[in-house]
Amino acid sequence: MKKKPTFLTRRTFIKTSSILLTAASLPNTLFARTDDKKLGVALVGLGNYASEQLAPALLETQNCYLAGIVTGTKSKEKIWQEKYNIPDKNVYNYANFDDIVNNDNIDIVYIVLPNSMHAEYSIRAAKAGKHVISEKPMAISTAECQQVIDTCKALQVKLGVGYRLHYEPFNREMIRLGQKRIYGPVNSIDADFSFNMNDRTQWRANKKYAGGGPLMDLGIYCLQGAIYSLGELPISVSARDTTLNKANWQSVEGSLEWTMKFESGAVANCRSSYEKELVNHLLVKTEKHSYGLNQAYLFDQLAGFTPAGDMNFPTVNQQALQMDDFANSVRYDLPVLPCGEMGLRDMFIVEKIYESIAAGGKDISLAGMPQVLDKVL
Ligand code: NAD
Repeated sequence: MKKKPTFLTRRTFIKTSSILLTAASLPNTLFARTDDKKLGVALVGLGNYASEQLAPALLETQNCYLAGIVTGTKSKEKIWQEKYNIPDKNVYNYANFDDIVNNDNIDIVYIVLPNSMHAEYSIRAAKAGKHVISEKPMAISTAECQQVIDTCKALQVKLGVGYRLHYEPFNREMIRLGQKRIYGPVNSIDADFSFNMNDRTQWRANKKYAGGGPLMDLGIYCLQGAIYSLGELPISVSARDTTLNKANWQSVEGSLEWTMKFESGAVANCRSSYEKELVNHLLVKTEKHSYGLNQAYLFDQLAGFTPAGDMNFPTVNQQALQMDDFANSVRYDLPVLPCGEMGLRDMFIVEKIYESIAAGGKDISLAGMPQVLDKVL
């Protein structure tokens, strides 16, 4: 890792018990030096997200590029190699993945596998001396998240979670408006991310691979959105399983809703479902105003409003910004914005949500939760 140049001025504060990651802190990438060598990224798992979003984004990144692939499907190798100019020596499968330790072309390993495989591959990547980005959710339990964090720390590699919306202008505006109390103190937040998942044969409908239902997959965006729009951590949570068709959803929940309470008195009501048409919003009410995003969590076509009118921001390549920022954290030894501790924090809340459902909707304290915030100062 290089020494941080003096012009890198991102204000990130790390305290012993809490991590405040400043949102005004623009992504590291804005301060990148153009003369530095791009870092090599290997994608692990060449499914939908890797093919449709991450690999194309790596053609737009300034600080990193697609150097390698890890796949269990032989037929994908040649296609990817030709499309992205990947040499034979940078192609791995799940059995020989650990040999990546000997490959100097690969600096960063990005895990894009089913959720239950994130922890194992993050740990194997760290043990191979590579910096790690794990897709969300970071793992399927807090115990696994902690193991990944501890391993990365011990081996001195950076760890990030694929929370792309921290780099998305509409969502960054929500952070600014809420945390700076532009329309007064926030009273309530309403967040919903749902869609109809008709294919119940895929891993997302299987607890063994997914760890849970829409909460792990989609609801985690609502949980994140509520926290960063408020700039506060919740103190308790209560939840209900609202699955409509129990026969269809036996392994994981089909729908659920939960309420997070905050010390300021604000309340966030969140929902997530695999049983309804697409909904993806993040709405805020203050005493006199309301504002928010009615298209909040997608890759493009986001939309929002404030009392002053419609929000107007450009569409950015969220994944490219996220990976470039991570690459610069590696280059200059800077803290990672969507860091492992943030992934652990979210899994802590997820576990308490399931605990509350099991306890018939009881309000459960979040004492002991990692104190991590993407915070505008
Ligand atoms: P996908 O099913 O399209 O791809 C999964 C990949 O894992 C496939 O290439 C598959 O072959 C491979 N795989 C290896 N072992 C497997 C096994 N035992 N069972 C099933 N697949 C196996 O899934 P996806 O939509 O690409 O999601 C992958 C990860 O990316 C998930 O963790 C998901 O949460 C995350 N994701 C994130 C975003 C985002 O916006 N950040 C969007 C979509 C997906």
